[in-house]
Amino acid sequence: MTPVTVFAGQSVAVFGLGGSGFVTAQALVAGGAHVNVWDDNEHAREKARAAGLRIENLAGADWRSFSALVLSPGVPLTHPAPHWTVLKAKEAGIEVIGDIELFCRERRRIAPGAPFVAITGTNGKSTTTALVAHLFRTFGFPVEVGGNIGTPILALAPPDESRVHIIECSSYQIDLAPSLDPSVGILLNVTPDHLDRHGTMENYAAIKARLVHAADLAVVGVDDAFTRAIAAELRGAGRNLTEISAAGAAVDDGIVFEDGRLYRRAGASSALIADLAGIASLRGAHNGQNAAAAVAALGPLGLDSARVAKGLASFPGLAHRLEEVGRRGKVLFVNDSKATNADAAEKALLSFKNIFWILGGRAKQGGIEPLRPLFDRIVKAYLIGEASEAFAKTIGGAFPVAFCETLESAVPKAAIDAGASAIPDPVVLLSPACASFDHFPDFEKRGDRFRDLAKALIEAP
Ligand code: ADP
Repeated sequence: MTPVTVFAGQSVAVFGLGGSGFVTAQALVAGGAHVNVWDDNEHAREKARAAGLRIENLAGADWRSFSALVLSPGVPLTHPAPHWTVLKAKEAGIEVIGDIELFCRERRRIAPGAPFVAITGTNGKSTTTALVAHLFRTFGFPVEVGGNIGTPILALAPPDESRVHIIECSSYQIDLAPSLDPSVGILLNVTPDHLDRHGTMENYAAIKARLVHAADLAVVGVDDAFTRAIAAELRGAGRNLTEISAAGAAVDDGIVFEDGRLYRRAGASSALIADLAGIASLRGAHNGQNAAAAVAALGPLGLDSARVAKGLASFPGLAHRLEEVGRRGKVLFVNDSKATNADAAEKALLSFKNIFWILGGRAKQGGIEPLRPLFDRIVKAYLIGEASEAFAKTIGGAFPVAFCETLESAVPKAAIDAGASAIPDPVVLLSPACASFDHFPDFEKRGDRFRDLAKALIEAP
């Protein structure tokens, strides 16, 4: 744990006792603060009480006695409307911050030179975080990995020059971290998302931009208009900037992904770093962007390309994101359960041809209409869940569909069809383009079930 000493002797209100809120309260207590916690959920309060935290209904508290409100990232700060605790804090004139901000303040106090890589973007955050961690680990650096992925930041070991903190940050977390100042800040991409919580695209992009504004080294994707503008602003301000592109954008100084390879580009010169072809965990141009960012983050270490290439090649990848489960004969089984919308499923469809596609669940707005240009990659679809009728309508007669209702029915059907087809390199791909909530508590459970079903087929005599 990282004890937070910056509020020692002061009173702090903590609202929201999910995974990160609970740890945050404990870290503040460990650092000597007087902490009053509250959550609307009685079960969460009970757990906190059992852990020795002081429960106080903040609705009736004297807010002027608090130095800060520490909010969970899941609680609305601004949109659709500020949470009542935020209004109370504003009224009392106290700041509203989150756990990443506490970490930053503690780092500045105890180890300002501690390596701290922060990662954000609309898509690719977890993959890039895992890849950066893998590379640093491969090169022998002790790493602490967490934030929006896995372990809450304050549950990690304290910042220290001898280890690298690699932290995934959601836009909600950045919104609560006004002085975020990583040694390396990575901003991958900004596309429409979470507008219910951030109001406008401009506001959402401005929040994401904060992660790189005060970074010693800013690594910024330049493949969308929002991040391009952010990179231009940093360049104009003379900041230390490495640009990355996986879509042919002009890059003067940075890392590009082209024709399956990563290159270091400086002015007119271009040097090969690594060929990503054959690295199953880094399939697709989207992973080219993630890999370019991760390699850029290593920049200050001055590692040679051969070592970097070797590190990339041993990346195991993350579960549920184009995860190769295995093969039965010529049939490859791929679990992309994380693709809960058309945008993510598009990346999977772009990564393969001859696809036996398992999709469906609870549809998102727009359904699979945006995927129409990729329909020629599909051999047959296996529809599951609530979205089946609507998706069949969108597909029309573009390719055959089977109504399967469940994964249990879809996986063997797809496997038999793929095995019997004369097509080379068939892929049974779960990339649902839907939320899982009609049949599963979350995408992880859906992917686990797919993996189990596929493994049983692969291992069957
Ligand atoms: P996040 O943590 O931002 O949700 P993940 O690394 O978990 O991102 O990837 C989630 C999905 O987003 C992947 O399955 C893939 O479809 C898509 N994706 C991954 N990286 C990128 C990227 N750089 N650009 C666009 N889409 C991406």
